[in-house]
Amino acid sequence: MSSTSADSLLLGEPVQCPRCGGEYLHQHRVEVWDREEDASEGHHVQVFGGKVTVDGRMDRNPSPRRDGASVFFFCEKCTAEPRLDIFQHCGQTIVQWGVRTHKKYEKKAEPR
Ligand SMILES: [Zn+2]
Repeated sequence: MSSTSADSLLLGEPVQCPRCGGEYLHQHRVEVWDREEDASEGHHVQVFGGKVTVDGRMDRNPSPRRDGASVFFFCEKCTAEPRLDIFQHCGQTIVQWGVRTHKKYEKKAEPR
């Protein structure tokens, strides 16, 4: 039985692209949000490109009301730029993928 992208997160296997199932994802950015419940501002830390930035923005926080963390990837096998979110919601911890594609590569993938 083959594992799914969600299974690979829990089994210590290579993380699979949620779009194509490829196992060659590159982590390139991490963001963490910390705030009091329902606060419009808090602490937002971003590690990207050899730099660490800190601000109070909550606009990209995957949690609508609490703390969150996101790891950003790009896939070698397709145009996906998956985002793995871990966040608090209604007293529970949710882990989920979000996927967007790189427009430059989307055009390359179109049939001719
Ligand atoms: Zn992919």
